[in-house]
Amino acid sequence: MLCQECNERQATVHLTQIMGDKMTKRDLCEVCGKEFVDAAKSNGRVSLDTIGSNPTEMLLSIIVASDPRYAKDAYLFVQEGLTRTLKMYWEPGKPGHISGAQLLDGLRELAIESFGKRAKATLNAWGIFKCEDFGEIIFNLVEAGLLAKQEKDTKADFQGGYEFDAAFPS
Ligand SMILES: [Zn+2]
Repeated sequence: MLCQECNERQATVHLTQIMGDKMTKRDLCEVCGKEFVDAAKSNGRVSLDTIGSNPTEMLLSIIVASDPRYAKDAYLFVQEGLTRTLKMYWEPGKPGHISGAQLLDGLRELAIESFGKRAKATLNAWGIFKCEDFGEIIFNLVEAGLLAKQEKDTKADFQGGYEFDAAFPS
């Protein structure tokens, strides 16, 4: 299948764009997919959903290509930790909102649960060395439209968290 935008390259990014009540399916190459994500960044109202052959993975590839600081697994880990933490604090009838500190605790628990004594080494291998790195990853996910931005979220929420040496037993 050829890219709908340039009609030249193979479409490898399959996106569903939801704006208001309209849903449009787009099949794009990585180059046009990246432009699409950049456009999503600037208007901030596009949400991308999962239809077709795992577009989340594709979008993550695009993020990692434009910001090589963190591995793709780092994003998957943060997404899992976020979902888990949201569920933990979720109250029926209320919009899900967790603070930066709650999310940092949730990520630490998930890392220790998943990797035990290898938790810090695993995070380090993905490019995560301090709590601010989690904030950067969240920021990239929001920018790419993979995560809805909470009203008050800032990168500052992730400063002054725990020290990795103290937080993760080795
Ligand atoms: Zn294209």
